[in-house]
Amino acid sequence: MGSIKVVVDRNKCISCGIAPAVCPEVFVLEGKNRVVDKYSKQTDNNISIGEVPEELRECVVNAANSCPVNAITVE
Ligand code: SF4
Repeated sequence: MGSIKVVVDRNKCISCGIAPAVCPEVFVLEGKNRVVDKYSKQTDNNISIGEVPEELRECVVNAANSCPVNAITVE
């Protein structure tokens, strides 16, 4: 089963809440957006890096495309 890498630039995030609304399986607001503990590989004040199952790609991509400041990158 494949996985995808998700990176949230928490410095760019303006805490608009769209990412957790569009894809609550992967994102949660904790001051700013971050990858949920379940999928987080590294989260600090500046960045949140996650390893997410392939099945959630569409969810993550939708959130990334909805972010007004392009703070979410999907690899
Ligand atoms: S959509 Fe972008 S700016 Fe809004 S909470 Fe998510 S990462 Fe932050």
